[in-house]
Amino acid sequence: MEEQKENRPLHKAGCEEEELCRTLKNLELSGRVKERSLSDGQEDLGNYSAKSSASDFSDPVYKEIAFTNGCVNRMSKDELKATLTELKLDTRGVKDILSKRLKNYYKKQKLKEPSCNKNYYDYICVIDFEATCEEGNAPDYIHEIIEFPIVLINARTMEIEDTFQQYVKPEIKPKLSEFCINLTGITQEVVDKADPFVVVLQSAVDWMRQKELGTKFKYAILTDGSWDMSKFLNMQCHISCLKYPRFAKKWINIRKSYGNFYKVPRNQTKLTMMLEKLGMSYDGRLHCGLDDSKNIARIAIRMLQDGCELRVNERMNAGQLMTVSGSMAFEGAAIPHNPQRKK
Ligand SMILES: [Mg+2]
Repeated sequence: MEEQKENRPLHKAGCEEEELCRTLKNLELSGRVKERSLSDGQEDLGNYSAKSSASDFSDPVYKEIAFTNGCVNRMSKDELKATLTELKLDTRGVKDILSKRLKNYYKKQKLKEPSCNKNYYDYICVIDFEATCEEGNAPDYIHEIIEFPIVLINARTMEIEDTFQQYVKPEIKPKLSEFCINLTGITQEVVDKADPFVVVLQSAVDWMRQKELGTKFKYAILTDGSWDMSKFLNMQCHISCLKYPRFAKKWINIRKSYGNFYKVPRNQTKLTMMLEKLGMSYDGRLHCGLDDSKNIARIAIRMLQDGCELRVNERMNAGQLMTVSGSMAFEGAAIPHNPQRKK
C-alpha cells in the first residue's frame, strides 16, 4: 500500500505536503520541471495576497508553489479531474478553470492560509436590475428600473441565505414595449400594480437593514458588469429626483473579477459564458432579474470556493464610473440609508 502511494505520479499525489514535495523534487531531478514553471508560479502569485512581494520569490515555499504550478500546467484535463476528485474538489469546468482550482488548492496548503480571512466581507449582495427597453434602443434611451432583486450570499458559508424581489412601476413610459415584456417576462399588469422606485428602494433598504448589513456585518454589492449601478441606478435616481444611494457607490463587477481570476478575455464574460466555462448551465428564466441574480451568485460562490477573494473593483464618483484599486478594495459598503430627495 505504502509502496503504491510512493510511486503515484503528482496528479494522484493528493494533498499530503511531504508527498507533494517529494514528487516535486523527483520531477525537478528528472528534468521535467522547466524554467517556465517558476514564471508561471510568479504570475499567479503576484495577485494572490499581501504577503507577495519581489523578495518572496526567493522563499523556498514560493519556489515550491511555482514548481507545483508548472506541474499542474502540464496535466491533461483527465489528470486534473482525477486529482480534483481525489481531493474532493469540484471537477466541473473547462481545463483552464480546473487548473486554476488545483493551483489555488496547493497554494493555500503551502501558505497555510486560514480558510477565511477575518477582514473579508461577511456578505455579498448580488443585484441585477431589469429595466425598460425597446428593440435596438438608442444609446441615449432612458431606461427605468422595473425589477429590483437582491440575492444575499453568506461569504463565510458560501451559500445563498436569502433573496429580495420587488417590481417597480415606470413613471416616464408606464407602458412596456412588447420587446421588453418578451425579454424580461415582466407583464404590464405586474408593473401597473407595482410601487414607484422610491418606495421600492425604501423596501430594499429596510430589508438590508434587517440583515444588519453595514452595521453588524461587513458587506459588498456585486453586479454583472458596470451598468446596473453606473447606468440604470444612476439614471433612475435622476428620474426619481433622488440622491444616488451611498451604499451603492462601489461594487464588485464580477465580469472583471472572473476575467482576471480565470484569465479569460473580457468578451467571454457574459453570464451564460461564465456559467458554461464553469461547467454549469443557467437555472431559471434568462432576464428575470431574480433568476439572473441567483445565477450570478452561483458564479460568485464558485469563485470563492476556487480561492478568489472577490473584491470591490468599481465605484461611482461624482456621477462617473471609476476603477477601484488595492487600498479601497476590502472596505465594506456603507450602511443603507433611506432614499434622499435631491434638493
Ligand atoms: Mg438581468
